[in-house]
Amino acid sequence: MIAYDTVVIGGGPAGISAALTCASQGLSCLLVAEKYGGKLNDISHLSNWFGGGLGNGVQLANSFQNELGGQTRLVTIVSTAVTSLEPVKQGGENSYIVQLQNDSRVIARSLVIATGTKQRQLGIPGEKMLLGKGVSYCATCDIPYFRNKTIALIGDNNRILAVTDELARHAKQVYLFSSLDSRAVRASNVQVIMGASFDKIVGIDKVSGLTYRDSKSKRVVHLALDGVFIESTALGNSQLVSHLVRITRDGFIKVDHATMATSLAGVYAAGDVTDSSYKQVSIAVADGTKAVLSVKKYLNMKEIT
Ligand SMILES: Cc1cc2nc3c(=O)[nH]c(=O)nc-3n(C[C@H](O)[C@H](O)[C@H](O)COP(=O)(O)OP(=O)(O)OC[C@H]3O[C@@H](n4cnc5c(N)ncnc54)[C@H](O)[C@@H]3O)c2cc1C
Repeated sequence: MIAYDTVVIGGGPAGISAALTCASQGLSCLLVAEKYGGKLNDISHLSNWFGGGLGNGVQLANSFQNELGGQTRLVTIVSTAVTSLEPVKQGGENSYIVQLQNDSRVIARSLVIATGTKQRQLGIPGEKMLLGKGVSYCATCDIPYFRNKTIALIGDNNRILAVTDELARHAKQVYLFSSLDSRAVRASNVQVIMGASFDKIVGIDKVSGLTYRDSKSKRVVHLALDGVFIESTALGNSQLVSHLVRITRDGFIKVDHATMATSLAGVYAAGDVTDSSYKQVSIAVADGTKAVLSVKKYLNMKEIT
C-alpha cells in the first residue's frame, strides 16, 4: 500500500489549501475529493475574497487547480470518495488506513479532514427520492432552473427572508412554508402558509407537487409544483471520523483553533466541517494552511521521539 505523509479528504477551499501547503512544506500528500471545488461550485457571486478579479466560485476553483497542477511531485489528486478510515500501526507508528470508493487503499501518517457540511433533511416522504429532481437545499445554486415556475420554499432559519426574495425574483409563484410573519414578505408572488404538516413531496422522475395537512382546518391540501426548496441548517459532514474524534451534536469536529488539531493525535480538520463559528472561503483556506503546518510539526516530533 502506498503511504503518504498526509491524506487530505475534501477538495473544497480548505482541502485545496491544505494540499498546496503540503507542497510548500515538502510533505507527500494525497488529496481525495468527491467533488473538486466543493461549495465553490455553488457560488455565483463570490464575496469576502480579496484575491481580486474573480467573479464566482468556479473561477477561484480553477485558479487553485492551476496552482495544484504545478505541484504533481508531492501532491496526487484523486476524484473519488473516502469510505472509511481505520487506525493502524505501521512500522511502529500510529497511522490510518484510508479506504477509497474506487476500491484502492492507502496509508496516511496523518489526516486532514476537510469534508464541509451537508444539509439537515426534514424527513418528508419523497424528499430523499426527489433530491436533485426538483428538491433542492441550495436556492442560489438551483433557482436558474426554476425561472417562471411554481415552487415551494420550506424553512424557518434566519436566512429565510433573503432566500424568499431571491426565489420570488425568478419564480412565477412561491409558496412559503414558514412561521415567518407574512408582513415581512414584500413580493406579491409569495404566499405564506403557516402551520402545515407535510404528508409527502409528490413525483416520480421529478417533483410534481406537495401534499400537506392544514393544522387549523385539518384539510388535506395538494399543491401542483415544479420544485421544492428546503432551507435547513447545515450539519458537519463528519461521519467518516465520528468514531475517532470528538464532534458536536450537529456533527462539527471539535478542534483547537490555533492548530486545527482534533481530539486524536495526527488527525486535523479544516474549513466548514469544524466547530468554527464562521463559514467562508477565506477561513477555510486559512484553516487548511494551519492544519498542514501543524501536520509538519507533528511528523517532525514523531521522527525525533
Ligand atoms: C450558495 C453558497 C454561496 C456561498 N458564497 C460564499 C461567498 O460568496 N464567500 C465566501 O467566503 N463563502 C461563501 N460560501 C461558503 C463557502 O462556500 C464555504 O465556507 C467553503 O466552501 C467551505 O470550504 P470547505 O473546503 O470547508 O468545504 P466544501 O467547499 O464544502 O468542500 C467539501 C469537500 O469535501 C468533499 N467530500 C465530502 N465528503 C467526502 C468524502 N467522504 N470523500 C472525499 N471527499 C469528500 C466534497 O466533495 C468537497 O470537495 C457560500 C456557500 C454556499 C453554499
